[in-house]
Amino acid sequence: MNLEPCRERMAHMSSWIDGALEAGTLFFNAKGKPAMLEPPAAPVVDTHAHLSMAAPKDASPDERRAAAAEWLARAWLAGVTWVVCIVDASEDGRDARAFLSWLSETEDAAQREIDVALSAGLVPAFPHEPLRVGLSAGVHPYGAAELEGCLDSLKTLLASPRVVALGECGLDYHCELPHEVQRAAFVRQLELAKEFGLPLELHVRDEVGDAFYEAHREALEIVTAADAASLGIDLHCYTLGPEPMEGWLALGAKVAFGGAMTFKRSDEIRDAAAACPADALLTETDSPYMAPEPLRGRTCEPAFTLATADLLAEVRGEFLGEPRRAPFEAAWRNAHALFDPKP
Ligand SMILES: [Zn+2]
Repeated sequence: MNLEPCRERMAHMSSWIDGALEAGTLFFNAKGKPAMLEPPAAPVVDTHAHLSMAAPKDASPDERRAAAAEWLARAWLAGVTWVVCIVDASEDGRDARAFLSWLSETEDAAQREIDVALSAGLVPAFPHEPLRVGLSAGVHPYGAAELEGCLDSLKTLLASPRVVALGECGLDYHCELPHEVQRAAFVRQLELAKEFGLPLELHVRDEVGDAFYEAHREALEIVTAADAASLGIDLHCYTLGPEPMEGWLALGAKVAFGGAMTFKRSDEIRDAAAACPADALLTETDSPYMAPEPLRGRTCEPAFTLATADLLAEVRGEFLGEPRRAPFEAAWRNAHALFDPKP
C-alpha cells in the first residue's frame, strides 16, 4: 500500500484516517514505535474476533459500534477482508436481536469508513474482495452454567443468515467451573450445531501444566461420541505442540493459529504450525486479546492477523520450503471450505 499521498494529507484528516493509515501495514507497537507488517500474499481471514469488545465494557453501544467499524475498515484496507465475529449468548449476545442489528449497523459503518478512506486515496490490499463479516454464536465454557437460561437467544443468533459457525464452545479446564457442567453445555451445543447444520468454533484449554491434555482428550471424545466432526471444526487459538493436534486432524479439524504462535517462547506452537497439513491451516486473532509480535502489548484487532499469517508463511517456508503464497492461499481456501454453506 502506497502511503505517500496519504502522509501529505494526514494533518488535515480526521483521527480515523490516522488509524486507517496504520492499516496500510504500518502500525505502532505498544511503545509507540512503527512496526511495518508485510503485505499479505492473498486475502486473509480472521476466523475469531470479538467485535463487541472493540471498546471497553462501559462504552455505549454507539462507541462500541464506532470502534468495531474502525477495526473492520482497517482490516479490510490491510487485506484481512473477512472477519468472523464471535458472540456469546450468555454475554454480549444475551439480547440476540439487539446484537444482530448492532452488528449490521457496525458493518454499514465500516463500509462508510472504507469509502472515506478510498476517497482520500488509500489503496487497499485487495480492492475487488468485498468486506465480509460472518458470525459464530455459542456459549463459551466460562458461561456453561448459563446455557439453559440463554438458549432462546442462542437459537435466535444461530438462525441469523449471517451465522457461519457455532461457538466458541468447548472445555476450559483452566477455569474453575466443574467439568461436568462444562461437558453438559458442550454436548448440548453439539446437538444444536447438528440441528442448525453448522461447523464448530472450539475453545479447548487444558489446566496449566497438564501434560496429559485432559481437556483436549475429553473434548475429542465428546465430539466423536456426538458424531459431530463431519460438521467441520475450527480448533480456535491453538497453543500446543504437534502431538495433541493429531487427534483433531484425524477428525478432519482445521487448526487456527493466532498471536500466541508469534511469541518468543512459542517454539512448540511454531512446530505445530509447520506440522499442520496445508488443508487444515487457519488464521485468527482472538481480538481484543493476544496481539501478535511485533505488536504485542497493544489491543489486538483483526488487521493484526497479517502478522500471524506472515510468520506462519515464514515458519512453513523455513521448515517445509513452501513458497510464501502457499499458506496464505491455503488458509483462505480452508476458511471457505469450512464456513461457506455446503451445497
Ligand atoms: Zn475468543
